[in-house]
Amino acid sequence: MEIKSIESFVLTNTLDESFFFSQWEYATRQICLVKVTASDGTVGWGEGYGPATVVKSGVDFLAQFIVGMNPLETDAVWSVMYRRTLDYARRGILVSAISAIDVALWDVKGKILGQPVHRLLGGKKRTEIHPYATGLYFSRCPDLAKKLAAEAQTYAEAGYTAMKMKVGLTPEADLRQVQAVREAIGPDVRLMIDANHAYNLTEATALCRQLEPLDIAWFEEPVSPEQYGHYAELRQRTSIPIAGGECEYMRYGFQHLFAGNCVDIAQPDICSTGGLTEARKIADLAMVYGVDVVPHTWGTNIAISAAINLAATLDKVPGRMYMPQQMIELDRTENALRDEVTKLRYTVDKGVIAVTDEPGLGVEVDEELIKKYVL
Ligand code: MG
Repeated sequence: MEIKSIESFVLTNTLDESFFFSQWEYATRQICLVKVTASDGTVGWGEGYGPATVVKSGVDFLAQFIVGMNPLETDAVWSVMYRRTLDYARRGILVSAISAIDVALWDVKGKILGQPVHRLLGGKKRTEIHPYATGLYFSRCPDLAKKLAAEAQTYAEAGYTAMKMKVGLTPEADLRQVQAVREAIGPDVRLMIDANHAYNLTEATALCRQLEPLDIAWFEEPVSPEQYGHYAELRQRTSIPIAGGECEYMRYGFQHLFAGNCVDIAQPDICSTGGLTEARKIADLAMVYGVDVVPHTWGTNIAISAAINLAATLDKVPGRMYMPQQMIELDRTENALRDEVTKLRYTVDKGVIAVTDEPGLGVEVDEELIKKYVL
């Protein structure tokens, strides 16, 4: 069995309505999908998180070194890709390219062996995953707090027991909007906030003090991912759990977050942090440090399924008879590339995803629609 070919596609979709967060505005969605074909004709799909055209360049660069290798030997293939990029890109977009190929290889491996990826990772430890709804972005409207409160209600009515909203405009606006959302969803729905590293330590501390009475399940990327010490200091200053890691790469990067006591919740993005091969190792490292793992996702159903399959296998620390729910992130913002091009054979019912045993990642990809979205 050999890897016969690796193809990459940049898909672009212009949004009906743009939205923004603390750093920039989204008017389009773009993703690099990767198709790996094995010598027996089996096809697997992956995707990279990050600027799609750059991810594509990385995938096309890496392909020459791994075509001809055995697609079942995911760790061996990963090592070749890592060695070929280490001297130039210990972190960043080339790791996203590795991730995209790696995820596709796990899909290929599962289909060849007729097994779901979670079983190949060691077996599922739960049959249900609890996705939290990600949405509640900023938009230009006369009363944003009111609009966010109404959006939050739609997630609660759909059965989501947890959701995440953006903060990071100004502390004053954050307080107003978080209060409005908390009021709209009541006390029983978990509410997380995400600043995308908009604040310095002083601002983040002050905001935490104001938001602590609102029962915030975690504060994500409160400060710059470069400031490990500020993460650790903020953890000491507030009772709100601190989350981060979507800008972190491989176990070598996460080691800094863990050893520095920076986070309560680690959020590796499987499609940028090194693929399923590396995310499994990051989860093991998190366990060593007693840190919870809730995968970050921002992409198509390929990324979502990779997160479900990993999340099904994760250990909780410490173990106990009645385990806490395992969450993954489920982006609910407009994304035709997710909803049209890829079909997840998993469904979300009353805020719960049942883990099934589809071979590979269990995602169908419409190649005709890929042509529509490739510019
Ligand atoms: Mg985030």
